[in-house]
Amino acid sequence: MSTLLFPPMPKQPCQHCGLPTFVPASADPTRAVFCCTGCAFAHRLAAKPDAEGDLTPLQTGAWLTGFALFNQGVFWLLQVLLRGEDRAALSVASGYASIALGAAIWGLLVWALNVGGRRTVADVVVLALTAVGILLGLATRSPACAAGATIGLTLWTLRGFLRRRRV
Ligand SMILES: [Zn+2]
Repeated sequence: MSTLLFPPMPKQPCQHCGLPTFVPASADPTRAVFCCTGCAFAHRLAAKPDAEGDLTPLQTGAWLTGFALFNQGVFWLLQVLLRGEDRAALSVASGYASIALGAAIWGLLVWALNVGGRRTVADVVVLALTAVGILLGLATRSPACAAGATIGLTLWTLRGFLRRRRV
């Protein structure tokens, strides 16, 4: 009965770490198999550029994310530095700019995690928690809260690099 309802799915090694991964029968056989979104991201980010040396969309997105992360930190610093001076309005604006960049990074990373790999409940939980962190940052005008959420999601996205690469 249970095999009728849940027919056994064939296993294939993850293209990145080699972990045996269930592949649904409906999966496109020409697509690479990854055990998780972290492995898919790490593998595709490390892919060589094409013959013309152009970056893949994922690599371009990663550069944009790094640039946005740096500027999120810069605006956060400005918010803190200007707080004590007679530039309170500029301090508040810097805080909002930092939080807005955090939201943009969140969107970029959600897109990057969507490039492939098996999505798990943990992915959904991390995305939900970090979204709450950014919204809390906005509600409390706290760039630190938004930055914490952004850094958390960035580390989650990069976790595939901690896995041993398959030879
Ligand atoms: Zn893997």
